[in-house]
Amino acid sequence: MKKIPTAANNGGPEDHTTQPLGSASQAARLQSVPAALSDSEPAVGASAVRRTFTFTSAVTGEKVTATCMPGCTVDHEADSNTPEHPHDIYCNIPGTAGELPLYGPLCDTGSPKDFRFLSWQIESRPFSGQPAERLPFVAIEAIDDHYIEYLDPDTLEMVIGRLQKRVESLREAHAQLVNVRTAYLNPSEVAA
Ligand SMILES: [Zn+2]
Repeated sequence: MKKIPTAANNGGPEDHTTQPLGSASQAARLQSVPAALSDSEPAVGASAVRRTFTFTSAVTGEKVTATCMPGCTVDHEADSNTPEHPHDIYCNIPGTAGELPLYGPLCDTGSPKDFRFLSWQIESRPFSGQPAERLPFVAIEAIDDHYIEYLDPDTLEMVIGRLQKRVESLREAHAQLVNVRTAYLNPSEVAA
């Protein structure tokens, strides 16, 4: 599975020097975010004990304890073994992926190729400088490498509604196509 979407991520390595995230007190403040969430929102389908791991901050050199997102499947061993920028720490729950065979500009092989389509995953970046990334969010991969990210529940609901409308519209297109084909192939309907 893909590591993580990065297309719309403003916290890439090139930005780290501009992020005012150097002090230990700030790291502690960021660290409190996921812990506070567990008080108000009980995890669904996750074990009662929240996993924690420690890593060395590449910014301060200090050991930082992180609380894992409930249900996270990342083992975080790599995070613990080498110094990491706190922004790069992420948790992930894989979702499901669909595939569509496509021709066209997205595909340069000249024959149909399977592209991932409407795949989703749940992520969080507990130390991100972007508030929208700290709480668990859904990332939908609309089509290979094109993401709709940082979806909170309300925004996800909106996206689902719009996708549903598009599916309904495609059903209309299907019915219309069947009618157009019938008319097209029926000689008696050809104008003289
Ligand atoms: Zn995790």
